Amino acid sequence: MTAPAITIKDLNFSYENSPVLTDISFSVGENSFFVIIGPNGSGKSTLLKVLAGILSSKTANIHILDKPIHRYTRKSMARTLALVTQNTTVDFPFSVLDVVLMGRAPHLGVLGLEQENDLEIANQALEFTGVEYLANRKMDQLSGGEQQRVFIARAICQQPKIILLDEPTASLDLAHQVRVMDLMEKLKKETGITVIMVSHDINLAAMYADTLLLLSRGRIACAGCPAEVITYQNLEQAYGCTLLVDQNPLGDYPRITLVPRKHLILKAQN
Ligand code: ADP
Ligand code: MG
Repeated sequence: MTAPAITIKDLNFSYENSPVLTDISFSVGENSFFVIIGPNGSGKSTLLKVLAGILSSKTANIHILDKPIHRYTRKSMARTLALVTQNTTVDFPFSVLDVVLMGRAPHLGVLGLEQENDLEIANQALEFTGVEYLANRKMDQLSGGEQQRVFIARAICQQPKIILLDEPTASLDLAHQVRVMDLMEKLKKETGITVIMVSHDINLAAMYADTLLLLSRGRIACAGCPAEVITYQNLEQAYGCTLLVDQNPLGDYPRITLVPRKHLILKAQN
């Protein structure tokens, strides 16, 4: 049993007066690939922001590695944990290399000067995520999918112990979706990082995640290995749609198929 990378106990979170997360307690093992799934508005992004220390809850007891979250300074948090948010935009015409180099900020000395070593790490991160050919392009001239890959490169350049990604594959084409998942798996194996990802792609998640957590209306509906969580009953209850669950031909992974309405009507008529 590995030590937890994150432990969260009794989290309740509200935006003003509307409760969004209720009675959330779980832990994420160090060096695991942990995927959070759930319907729109179920609180996934809010949960990631609480884990990253961007939003705080008075009730929750949260430990990041072996330390309570409130004991982290901004800088020590950024050295420990990187967050790739949903729909990040860049307003200034920074170059791709500038944006990736920003990932070094928590590691710089008092003068904030980058060393050759920082440039090397940034170039490695660009290469690792396959965006080195964009290094000198301006961020505001890239497609959404290209920008997304640059933000992942920046998070990797930050060399965190835990990486949080909010729907990182949402704006990517098929090849880049699987590439991002492969990259995270490789990073986890090679550097011991803990990956926590929000994803809507349950079939991809089933092939990579050690643990899945299903959020529904701000509560944990269930958590466990993919086979425990990806069942017809769990998903239908949370998402309110009909689907089939069978085995992925690639291996011992559950696979879902959405069932269009016309198939339901046919079935009912036969
Ligand atoms: P998910 O990522 O699962 O789609 P979110 O965590 O973004 O869900 O949102 C959960 C709920 O909180 C939604 O009902 C959303 O409208 C609400 N919400 C999200 N951000 C804010 C905010 N800044 N202020 C008020 N309500 C918010
Ligand atoms: Mg979200």
